Amino acid sequence: MRGLVIKNTGSWYTVKTDDGQLIESKIKGNFRLKGIRSTNPVAVGDYVQLITNQEGTAFISSIEDRQNYIIRKSPNLSKQSHILAANLDQALLVVTVNYPETSTTFIDRFLAGAEAYRVPVIIVFNKCDLLTEEELRYEKMMRTLYETIGYQCVEISAATGEGVDELRPLIRDKKSLLSGNSGVGKSTLINQLIPDAGQRTAEISEAHNSGMHTTTFSEMLELPEGGYLIDTPGIKGFGTFDIEKEELTSYFKEIFKFSQNCKFSDCTHTHEPGCAVIKAVEEHYIAASRYQSYLSMLEDKDENKYREAF
Ligand code: GDP
Ligand code: ZN
Repeated sequence: MRGLVIKNTGSWYTVKTDDGQLIESKIKGNFRLKGIRSTNPVAVGDYVQLITNQEGTAFISSIEDRQNYIIRKSPNLSKQSHILAANLDQALLVVTVNYPETSTTFIDRFLAGAEAYRVPVIIVFNKCDLLTEEELRYEKMMRTLYETIGYQCVEISAATGEGVDELRPLIRDKKSLLSGNSGVGKSTLINQLIPDAGQRTAEISEAHNSGMHTTTFSEMLELPEGGYLIDTPGIKGFGTFDIEKEELTSYFKEIFKFSQNCKFSDCTHTHEPGCAVIKAVEEHYIAASRYQSYLSMLEDKDENKYREAF
């Protein structure tokens, strides 16, 4: 039987089979995945095959190749990683220009991580009901900036429901990672999208607050129209990713475009003569905030700070 893992408590996996049954399953003790050193061989979002033993217990017998997955380094086991979720279609990055302010550095780091993992991002500007005219102007400017780079954006108020209908078709039948700083309105948005979610999110935060399952518990919330939201409290971004300096440029889409015209192919766009990126920043084709984010990530790379860059 084939199914999708929608909940992982650390010891049990809830699998939703293709015909819609929910089956509590275990994994075989000797279950290993080639090539990935992780503390959990199976994650939410995985498509798996189930077999049932004589006692009627369901076991995950195999797992299908992943389209992608996000990992986090295990805090205690430096060489091992924990897979947070697999087969993401996209990420929703909830941001607020105020109450609290989401920094452009945070947004750009998240976007760069998403590029590295090849996960498309929809930027959700929340709390538009709270904004003054000036803040709204700033929000529109940000929206234009990110849309020009190529990211889809929506403006909503999770509290009043305004704009949420614009988001629904974008998440239908997809597995979307829900991300954003604490306080930006992720739980409020979940409650708009999933009317009976309140109880379940309370359970999740309870599990997390208890401390016991912090690194193992994860769940996908099913949308009434089809599709899932992956809400992993405490996870703000894509975690560790090991990249070479030269690669960083390619995770900033518009910087990458201009970098094709730099004089040196290994240009870091910091000081080199004939740098087309620096020129584009000076001429405002590249936003100063984006360039600053690029530089800050490059600096982290220099200082080898990538372990917890997110
Ligand atoms: P989370 O930490 O991202 O899950 O954020 P919450 O959903 O808990 O929201 C944090 C606070 O912001 C709560 O007091 C919400 O009621 C409030 N909030 C969330 N979205 C909106 C919104 O669109 N407008 C307003 N006015 N308040 C909001
Ligand atoms: Zn350059």
